Amino acid sequence: MKTYDLIVVGGGPAGIFAAGFAALLGKKVLLLEKNRRCGAKLLITGKGRCNLTHAEEDPRKFIEVFGRQGKAFLTALYAFGVTDVVDFFEERGLPLKIERGGRIFPAQGDAASVQKVLDGFLRASGVELQTSCRVEKFIIEEDIIRSIQTSQGEFAADAYVVATGGLSYPETGSTGDGYRWAEQTGHHLVPPEPALVPILLDIDWSAEVSNFNLKNVQVQVVQNGKLLAERFGEAFFTAGGIGGPIILDLSAVTRTALKTGPVSLSLDLKPALDSETFDRRLQREFNENANRNFANSLAGLLPKALIPIFLRLSQIDPQKKCHSVSREERRQLLGLFKHLELPVRGIDGYKKAIVTSGGVSLKDIDMRTMRSKRVENLYFAGEMIDLDGPTGGYNLQVCWSTGYLAGISAGSCH
Ligand SMILES: Cc1cc2nc3c(=O)[nH]c(=O)nc-3n(C[C@H](O)[C@H](O)[C@H](O)COP(=O)(O)OP(=O)(O)OC[C@H]3O[C@@H](n4cnc5c(N)ncnc54)[C@H](O)[C@@H]3O)c2cc1C
Repeated sequence: MKTYDLIVVGGGPAGIFAAGFAALLGKKVLLLEKNRRCGAKLLITGKGRCNLTHAEEDPRKFIEVFGRQGKAFLTALYAFGVTDVVDFFEERGLPLKIERGGRIFPAQGDAASVQKVLDGFLRASGVELQTSCRVEKFIIEEDIIRSIQTSQGEFAADAYVVATGGLSYPETGSTGDGYRWAEQTGHHLVPPEPALVPILLDIDWSAEVSNFNLKNVQVQVVQNGKLLAERFGEAFFTAGGIGGPIILDLSAVTRTALKTGPVSLSLDLKPALDSETFDRRLQREFNENANRNFANSLAGLLPKALIPIFLRLSQIDPQKKCHSVSREERRQLLGLFKHLELPVRGIDGYKKAIVTSGGVSLKDIDMRTMRSKRVENLYFAGEMIDLDGPTGGYNLQVCWSTGYLAGISAGSCH
């Protein structure tokens, strides 16, 4: 049986960082990946452009978006923060740039260029990489992992890092294997759930306007008339509901609220104008088009794709002349622009989820080292731990930071 100082399971961003940085300490490291190549999920991140991290250099501010779990992430973030990520890629020939909302992307190139840098990093650091190798089982004796069984035989090491990701987009290789091993070895699992996911709507027209971008809109999550959360930015309708960055960020609140009763989204297509101002705009439009059909008056107010929907929902006769549109009808139309009610029927599943929330409980991990509190020679990193953030590069930063810390800790302690 071949033996190593460290075996890392999972060739995603977290596993690659853990393996590479441990190898740079002079350790003999084996990285096992079941796909033919590392980083399959990385290639589809940021719509193929890879939003690597978020431009917030102060770790204390960075962790705010992670809620109660954030504090536990501080050590890893101090160990390998946002500027370290930028330096890492820029020093390896991939300049980065900050885009709208603080999202950091490759300045030129795309997710494939990020994958290329990581491939080069593994080679340069001397990691032994075994692809098409599926880890099947951990052999444990006296609370220590002695070896692992894989589709290519048995391997042993002094220490192990598990970085097998979550359950979302399972076709990329993230099938929750690490969760099973964690449970089998006595770790508490916070129930995994799909997160950052499109919201399914109880309307029959979303398919007609699917994939058409709604820019600068505001969406609120409402339950029993109570506002639960709101976001401003980009969204788009899908065949069964609504997606886009602001919707993904609202999906967690929506999921939680659905457990206690019906939930609606309220879409404001004109958030820059209050209702009174927009009503004046409508009146002006109707006055200028007084003798034209109502159906022809919406072109200046709405994207073309949405006009037939608004004609239907407003219940105003499309042939009606604008000067005959009553005050009540105009009020109803105003409601569609400012508070279009979208009843929610659920949230989408793992196939469409950007990340998985839940995972190995942080209470079972020493977050100063990423070492398990249950198994002495086991470390965890990346999405499989109970730490997930909103869109914007936060989730990959979790992988870089926890992967680095796990690799350095395992590499220096064993
Ligand atoms: C469509 C999409 C877009 C995204 N965009 C962004 C973005 O722009 N910015 C951002 O910050 N985050 C983004 N994310 C989230 C981000 O991609 C993940 O958080 C990140 O990839 C998790 O990395 P990881 O290393 O923990 O796990 P993964 O990337 O899931 O890697 C785990 C690896 O382990 C391997 N593996 C699993 N089981 C075994 C086994 N039994 N044996 C051997 N190998 C195994 C898998 O094949 C896989 O390669 C996006 C996610 C998706 C789905």
